Amino acid sequence: MQILNGKTIAEEIRQEITTEVAALKAEKGIVPCLAALIVGDDPASHIYVNNKEKACQQVGIESRILRLPGDTVTSSLLKHIEQCNADPSVHGILVQLPLPPSCDEQQILDAIDPGKDVDAFHPENVGLLSQGRPRFLPCTPHGVQQILLRSGIPTTGQHVVVVGRSDIVGKPMALMMVQKSAGADSTVTVVHSRTKNLADLTRQADILVVAIGRAKFVTGEMVKPGAVVVDVGINRLPDGKICGDVDFDTVKDVAGAVSPVPGGVGPLTITMLLQNTLAAARSAKK
Ligand code: NDP
Repeated sequence: MQILNGKTIAEEIRQEITTEVAALKAEKGIVPCLAALIVGDDPASHIYVNNKEKACQQVGIESRILRLPGDTVTSSLLKHIEQCNADPSVHGILVQLPLPPSCDEQQILDAIDPGKDVDAFHPENVGLLSQGRPRFLPCTPHGVQQILLRSGIPTTGQHVVVVGRSDIVGKPMALMMVQKSAGADSTVTVVHSRTKNLADLTRQADILVVAIGRAKFVTGEMVKPGAVVVDVGINRLPDGKICGDVDFDTVKDVAGAVSPVPGGVGPLTITMLLQNTLAAARSAKK
């Protein structure tokens, strides 16, 4: 059984990004810059934003963090987004989710300039992805695809079953894997909480991608022998430990390859955000 080591793959990609950031600076004098907007004092959100800041520093990307109070309203946050949209030195904009109830999440995300939308949540970018001509690939699904590609796992003609249909992971994952492109060209099934006989479908997967937010939900008997299992889930157990949506202990005896949690998809998500910021800086008008 192969362990899909996301940490090593993320490190490899970050090295590549570091080289490319340095080249962009040397050749065009452009330093990619990511602006992160965070509202309120949710501890997990602050940890995520700090991690993104550290990752930016590691590869030579500039980061600017705007920390706003928890009672910030939609109109005020929109003004900050407009400023970032208009600022030519800002190439990527991210709004840390979840936003407090005083902010209309949809309105905020829709206001980000699609050319700076490095999370790839804007409807224009989702539309481009669905048409097979993506501007930015959504970070977590792109991380999963990189794990498959860089681990030498063939995807062409393979049956990919995606468990979960969120706009952040499940749906874009399915959209990416069905495209006519490298690391895709798969036959895709999406299953969710209303799916009948879910295990009958997961057992048909050559590649099973699980993103539901239910600790250890997918067990060995739900997996086809030899299948590749990618676990996107991040769940905190009562003892404080982190685990995935896949029951690693039973699945490892059946699957051909499994991504662990932690150390699987997690490190790739921020890495792909860095890559999108670099891409945004490259295509910026200057
Ligand atoms: P959401 O809660 O937005 O979506 C969960 C999806 O799973 C929904 O489509 C839901 O179905 C489905 N689902 C929930 N329970 C079941 C069930 N019992 N059987 C079948 N389907 C079910 O979650 P996200 O997609 O945002 O995240 C999923 C997981 O991935 C979480 O653990 C999250 O922490 C993690 N995550 C990890 C990232 C990383 O960097 N590694 C990044 C983003 C997320 P329905 O639509 O019918 O309600």
